[in-house]
Amino acid sequence: MRLPGGHDERVSPPGVHLRAELAAVPAYVPGRNEAEVAAAHGLDRVVKLASNEAAHGPLPGVLDEAARLAALTHRYPDTVSTALVAALAERHGVDPARLVAGAGSVTLCQQLVTATSGPGDEVLFAWRSFEAYPVFPALAGATAVRVPLTADHRHDLPAMARAVTERTRLVFVCSPNNPTGTASTAAEVEDFLAGVPQDVTVVLDEAYHEYAGGPGALDGVAVACRRPNVVALRTFSKAYGLAALRVGWCVAPPEVADALRRTAVPFAVSTVAQTAALLSLGHGDEVARRAREVVAERSRVTAAVRALGVDVPTSQGNFVWLAVGDRARPLAVALERRGVITRAYGDDGVRVTTGLHEENDIFLAALPGALAEARGT
Ligand code: PMP
Repeated sequence: MRLPGGHDERVSPPGVHLRAELAAVPAYVPGRNEAEVAAAHGLDRVVKLASNEAAHGPLPGVLDEAARLAALTHRYPDTVSTALVAALAERHGVDPARLVAGAGSVTLCQQLVTATSGPGDEVLFAWRSFEAYPVFPALAGATAVRVPLTADHRHDLPAMARAVTERTRLVFVCSPNNPTGTASTAAEVEDFLAGVPQDVTVVLDEAYHEYAGGPGALDGVAVACRRPNVVALRTFSKAYGLAALRVGWCVAPPEVADALRRTAVPFAVSTVAQTAALLSLGHGDEVARRAREVVAERSRVTAAVRALGVDVPTSQGNFVWLAVGDRARPLAVALERRGVITRAYGDDGVRVTTGLHEENDIFLAALPGALAEARGT
């Protein structure tokens, strides 16, 4: 069909040059939203426990204040988020030169790959882990090296250390691990780092840090402050409830921080996002209170799901992993039919975000029937 301007409607006519690497980029498959699922199954109530979003929403008053800054939308934002970086640096006792903000921590993941790795280089990570990790090496033409999790769904850090070669440029250690929820301890990470050459950058991805804790818990920021090759990655998307505004940050060695500033898309973090993040930092007690509530709910859900005979590793994130193997997809479909949207991962398992008490009750009520249905298929 010809469009009014005489242009063909095809966006990419045959023959344009696209990079061959794109063929190797794993496709992102977004989940269905509540309205779609409600319409598809004729349901009144659908809960979305699929994307590890905050159960409670943004912190009180933060958006009102940030929205006032929306009046400056005709102006470009501060491209290096100066005030936010200064506040985070002060809070964590870090030199601001080592602290970088980005449009979500996933963007910082991409910048880290871009800054370190190209064709012939290796980017190492555990598998299963965060779905974005394989995407960025593929885009960069680098090689993704996956090290299987242990049988109890944890990072196999000794095996990861053994998998480092002279071509390894970057290692992602996800703790707590998305999607299995398992955390590596501070001691395990120190042992691992001792076995990795110092010219290899190790990223401690702590997107779920606020939900983790207990004896021996990892504090990646503290590690990044001590080590010359460690980056600690955090986000405002989870416990701070700002997923849609896109703000993440990291502490990195100075030269890596500099490389991150060079690889950033200019003005990527909006003024509203910077302001909301900055204001959210003033609500530390409420962030901690909400996180405790999620942790209590996570324990309740874990115990209830285990009581049904499902293998559920101890989670340190705001989600639980149902290690149901090749019943993952049928289980997610059966849950969706009952009004609960979760996330199935291949033939490995189903990840269920910990929501509010009442949302978790809806999930727990749906689960026995969904498991029975999934077993029958
Ligand atoms: N790291 C991990 C482990 C995640 O699970 C996520 C979000 N799912 C991110 C990073 C990215 O989060 P954001 O870009 O919203 O900061």
